[in-house]
Amino acid sequence: MTAIGSVCVYCGSSQRVAPAFRRSAGAIGRRLAADGITLVYGGGRVGLMGEVADGALAAGGQVVGFIPEHLYELEAAHTGLTELHVVDGMHTRKMGMFERSDGFLVLPGGLGTLDEMMEVLTWKQLGLHRKPVVLLDVQGYWRPLIAMVEAQIAAGFARPEHRDLFTVADSYEAALEAMRQAPPPLFTPISKWA
Ligand code: AMP
Repeated sequence: MTAIGSVCVYCGSSQRVAPAFRRSAGAIGRRLAADGITLVYGGGRVGLMGEVADGALAAGGQVVGFIPEHLYELEAAHTGLTELHVVDGMHTRKMGMFERSDGFLVLPGGLGTLDEMMEVLTWKQLGLHRKPVVLLDVQGYWRPLIAMVEAQIAAGFARPEHRDLFTVADSYEAALEAMRQAPPPLFTPISKWA
């Protein structure tokens, strides 16, 4: 059993998405707060990012944001957070989010969300950490990504054990249960290149 005191949520910043995605992000924020789990995220007010933060705050939760200076206006930095770190760039932001979190929950999002998820997955593939990464499959959103990983395995670009780098969950409860599992052994680079 792994203690999960803080969860980093990666999710979309777009305002132009279906209400179901927005509702689920707000619900995740509320559930994290109700479980006493600190939300760590990108610090913005826009899109699902704003929804998850507002959900957690409304339920009395702790929310920690990391936003780069150059996105402070663009992503409408959230000024009501427990902690808002205004940092010098994307790398510092992502490292801050990584260090403050016991696990990663990936909600639907765009290219930025993919980048953030892939970074923690590839770090894990290289044996740099063992933190859980869970994709919340709201309305089957991540199915094409899962199919892509299967295609990589079938073509030999990834190994079957790389499926264990992440878990797919269709509910908050399933996501938390996956995060609380004992962590897998560290991957070693040899497991891919041998
Ligand atoms: P998106 O999924 O594209 O809406 O972006 C979600 C979050 O990821 C936003 O806070 C973006 O600023 C952030 N983001 C966008 N591009 C990148 C990137 N290359 N690396 C890390 N984060 C990014």
